[in-house]
Amino acid sequence: MVRAVFPGSFDPPTFGHLNIIERAHPLFKKLLVVVAENRDKNYLFSVEERLAFMKELVAPWPNVEVYSCDKLVVDFARQHDCKVLLRGVRSVQDFSYEFELSILNKGVGPEIETFFLPTDQRYFVLRSSAIKELASFGGDVSAMVPQIVADAMVRFRR
Ligand code: ADP
Repeated sequence: MVRAVFPGSFDPPTFGHLNIIERAHPLFKKLLVVVAENRDKNYLFSVEERLAFMKELVAPWPNVEVYSCDKLVVDFARQHDCKVLLRGVRSVQDFSYEFELSILNKGVGPEIETFFLPTDQRYFVLRSSAIKELASFGGDVSAMVPQIVADAMVRFRR
């Protein structure tokens, strides 16, 4: 049993992300969910908010831990003794992006393997960017994100 990292922006966390965590965590000794903090990205929620959401949402699973990271995810994985980078894929478009990313990551961390987990069919249209837009127009996102996230999104309504 190895330790794995599941990195992402999680801005905000969706049922798609949680489904990946729910299905993957029994396969690993520990699953470290890593909330990315990239200075070049404009996030809707601060890293502290995204961390707090994730910590609350993964609380039922004892082998899942949540961290934030502002460096290369491969370096994070190495420092935390993780041999697997887990990524979810929704579509062929996702796959082509994720495939290139996995090659880049393999270049900087040859000892770390990327594992892809296909989305559950219920969640293949869930995309944080679209959910943010929908919520900003007052659309109902409660079937897409957990209630704590849906409640927090109300403040971004136009
Ligand atoms: P990033 O900015 O790193 O792409 P995201 O928060 O958008 O971060 O996604 C983190 C990971 O979760 C990625 O591997 C992404 O493909 C996956 N993911 C996002 N939404 C879904 C979904 N609905 N079903 C399965 N995987 C998903």
